[in-house]
Amino acid sequence: LPQVAFAGRSNVGKSSVINRLLNRKNLARVGAAPGKTTHINYFLIDEKFYLVDLPGYGYAKVSKGERERWGRLMEEWFSDNTLMTLGMMIVDARHKPTADDQTMAEWFQGSGRPFAVVANKLDKLKKSEIASNLARIRETLGLDETVKVIPFSAEKGDGKQELLELILAHAGEHL
Ligand code: GDP
Repeated sequence: LPQVAFAGRSNVGKSSVINRLLNRKNLARVGAAPGKTTHINYFLIDEKFYLVDLPGYGYAKVSKGERERWGRLMEEWFSDNTLMTLGMMIVDARHKPTADDQTMAEWFQGSGRPFAVVANKLDKLKKSEIASNLARIRETLGLDETVKVIPFSAEKGDGKQELLELILAHAGEHL
């Protein structure tokens, strides 16, 4: 089955995006202790695809040891790229992506697998800020034209349909 992998900085709303997408309240734990998740969680969704919840990164208050553990886990997982068939990276629509986000985007793009970016917390932006913020995300992450950036609000539900369609189209191709 296809494996759709979700990654993002701690607190970006990855758990909320996953829960909104699947209409499930507690599949991914919202507000789980940042930086402490050292496991990769796999959820079988409707027997169509595996949703892979990669541990969040970039939390300031984790120890060097925990950071290194995360790095090893990710490198190991990404080097075995038969696992992932679609990469999904969550960023905060309000902010310029961080250096960690850039690294993550490079890993995804380097995997040679299809990849998309979800710009979450759209509800916190003014309408007039949306276009320029999305352009800044695209530019900072060095995305080529084929990579979609999906404006999303886990809180309000914006973008859910687009993201769901993208994932189900992908899953259909890999069944
Ligand atoms: P994770 O660490 O990336 O899994 O982030 P969580 O899903 O636990 O969310 C972190 C915080 O951001 C929580 O307080 C959420 O309620 C909040 N949050 C997540 N998505 C949104 C959103 O789209 N809009 C707003 N306003 N808040 C959000």
